[in-house]
Amino acid sequence: MTLFRSIDPATGEALWEGAEATPTEVAAAVAAARAAFPAWADRPRAERIEAVKRYQAMLKSRAPEIAETISRETGKALWETTAELGSMAGKVDISIRAYDERTGERTAETAFGHATLRHRPHGVAAVLGPFNFPGHLPNGHIVPALLAGDTVVFKPSEETPWTGQLMAECFAAAGLPEGVFNLIQGGRDVGAALLDQPIDALMFTGSGAAGAHFRRKFADDPHVILALELGGNNPLVVWDAADAEAVAGIVVMSAFITTGQRCSCARRLIVPEGAAGDAIVEAVAALSDRLVFGPWNGATEPYGGPLISEKAAAAALAALQQRIDRGARVIRASGPVDNLPGAFVRSAIIDVTGVDVPDEEMFAPFLSVTRVASFDAAVEAANATRYGLSAGLVSDDPAHWDVFIRRIRAGVVNFNRPTTGAAGDMPFGGLGASGNHRPSAYYAADYCAYPVASFEAGTVKDIRGEIKGLMA
Ligand code: NAD
Repeated sequence: MTLFRSIDPATGEALWEGAEATPTEVAAAVAAARAAFPAWADRPRAERIEAVKRYQAMLKSRAPEIAETISRETGKALWETTAELGSMAGKVDISIRAYDERTGERTAETAFGHATLRHRPHGVAAVLGPFNFPGHLPNGHIVPALLAGDTVVFKPSEETPWTGQLMAECFAAAGLPEGVFNLIQGGRDVGAALLDQPIDALMFTGSGAAGAHFRRKFADDPHVILALELGGNNPLVVWDAADAEAVAGIVVMSAFITTGQRCSCARRLIVPEGAAGDAIVEAVAALSDRLVFGPWNGATEPYGGPLISEKAAAAALAALQQRIDRGARVIRASGPVDNLPGAFVRSAIIDVTGVDVPDEEMFAPFLSVTRVASFDAAVEAANATRYGLSAGLVSDDPAHWDVFIRRIRAGVVNFNRPTTGAAGDMPFGGLGASGNHRPSAYYAADYCAYPVASFEAGTVKDIRGEIKGLMA
């Protein structure tokens, strides 16, 4: 038995300890989900809705406790994790609507009877969750999957097993039939063992590297639906915006919320060369100096907590240093936060204009500035990434927006709003290395079921007369 622990990144304290699922236990979870699938898929939809609503009620009743657990496991501020619980409960109603609107059933009369569109569930869905929204993001796959009639095997991030455990308790309390929802715990090896089982879908939110690996792994298994929600190297262009202070608010919210640990965070700030760009960068730097990064339960409410672990902080700082070594100019240096453990880092701003930097996501509060000569060059720089998750334009000139929205390649494109702005009743997903054209959030319904088109005549009718070229 291999034990692993969940560590509070703000204190180094062990919060939870449990055993990694063995290969036999992983196989048993998939077998249980397989056995439960036909009956779950056959239940009237209203029954599945009732069961998932009971889960929603459990989430609501335990919201403060689960939010606090997420704060302890991830170090995220309580204002964020409280909102995360709200999103998790809200996902149920949104997913019911999305199922009806995007999938569901409709029928039209024809000369022979009816043409009917139905949706059928795929089967057993493996859900692998990330650490940064350890409740909301896996929940965003699991809830629509269950509503559609799929059964689920969920492996939470190895950084946030306790949150996964509490979600499983809510499903258990909701009285779902045995085998419909299954939890397995462990790290990547356990995830890999899960994906070696006969599954019908992989619903994944996590890093671009893992997503690329899964694309290759399932290249010869087109019957396994892949929904890959991956990272980004997201651009935010500021052009012809007069109020530098107001701009700074949007940039800081885009780049540093959740201590930069959101897939939709702006990583690249693109501004005009010269005084206009200088004013923006200075205002952003000045506002970033005022951000409080601290413990979620500290005396002062923090804007953000630590990174997920000391290891993650060390890796992020090394990636930042690599850019500095290549010639990036430091506008604000990162480094440890006074008297706090090594997972806490200060936000950083570097200028990478003319420097050859890797097109990689730094999952940390680090912003890279690029200065360009024209708006066309700004759009070109924004698109110069293999990713395509979120992007933003901040400008007083709507004509720039008209151009930007047509030329930019990303799945979430915002105007005078932070790049992190998203909503459950809209799709959320990216292009290129950010996904595989199966956006989640409102469009999760699409990958949880497949469409079946049927042409139906109620009785056997003689259609021999329709056969052309028939010999008498
Ligand atoms: P991660 O890819 O390291 O891990 C995510 C999950 O996949 C974990 O459960 C992990 O154990 C499992 N896993 C990873 N590699 C695996 C492998 N080779 N085989 C089997 N299982 C494997 O991601 P993370 O560090 O937890 O999350 C942060 C990343 O997620 C960032 O890149 C971020 O941009 C991305 N993200 C994307 C979205 C989105 O909606 N597009 C949302 C949140 C986070």
